[in-house]
Amino acid sequence: MVDFVGAGPGAEDLITVRGMKLIENADQIIYAGSLVNKELLKYAKKDCKVYNSAYMTLEEVIKAIKAAEKANKNTVRLHTGDPSIYGAIKEQMVILEKENIKYRVCPGVSSFCAAAASLNLEYTLPDVSQTVIITRTEGRTKMPEKEDISLLAKHNCTMVVFLSAALLGVLTEKLKKGGLSGDTPAAIVYKASWPDEKKFICTVDELEKTAERENIKNTALIIIGRVLNSEFERSKLYDPSFSTMFRNESDSK
Ligand code: SAH
Repeated sequence: MVDFVGAGPGAEDLITVRGMKLIENADQIIYAGSLVNKELLKYAKKDCKVYNSAYMTLEEVIKAIKAAEKANKNTVRLHTGDPSIYGAIKEQMVILEKENIKYRVCPGVSSFCAAAASLNLEYTLPDVSQTVIITRTEGRTKMPEKEDISLLAKHNCTMVVFLSAALLGVLTEKLKKGGLSGDTPAAIVYKASWPDEKKFICTVDELEKTAERENIKNTALIIIGRVLNSEFERSKLYDPSFSTMFRNESDSK
């Protein structure tokens, strides 16, 4: 059995209880060493085999999994944040299916949630934005044509941009091409939830300058949108004149 486990955004105690138990029971752990907090490995069994996938190819990861399966041992494949976001898990799953190796996924706290927590931010404010676009700037991985940042920006909703800390000039250019004004609020959150976390509120125009000044080149999320600095309508959910499944309009009057 292979368990894909979301390790959370960084802080050692932001893994799920289930994820932690899977680590404790693992015979083998293959962790994404570039971003997973190594402190999590101290919960592994003494004789647990540990590999850092930052130094491995997909083929080497599969080889290690197959060797464990052959010896009747289970593997935890530890991914940063939540495995469903830029986790490169599908390519592993396809091979595991071919090899008849069972697998499951244990979700994790994604860094975009940790970044919001760090900024005391609600991504979805009534009358401001009710949509969050999770995306990235094109790098070596090409973007599907219809997902170019300039097209996504036209929605004028909250955007969380991964994998782009070194491409902020391009990001600003594309956001503005899509119609956002240069003074739209933006934030950079570096290493959300880690002890050396840093966060900066700026504008779309100031993104590159801010990252340069703070020497931020990686492990950061860029958040764009008026939710960062907004007047908003209070929610309907807690409005006395609004009934919900749990509360009648009349109860609260
Ligand atoms: N699956 C992960 C994302 C992996 S892609 C998740 O759910 O968070 C790697 C990118 O995620 C980084 O380049 C950076 O943009 C972002 N990232 C991961 N951890 C982060 C953190 N603690 N703080 C800010 N950004 C982070």
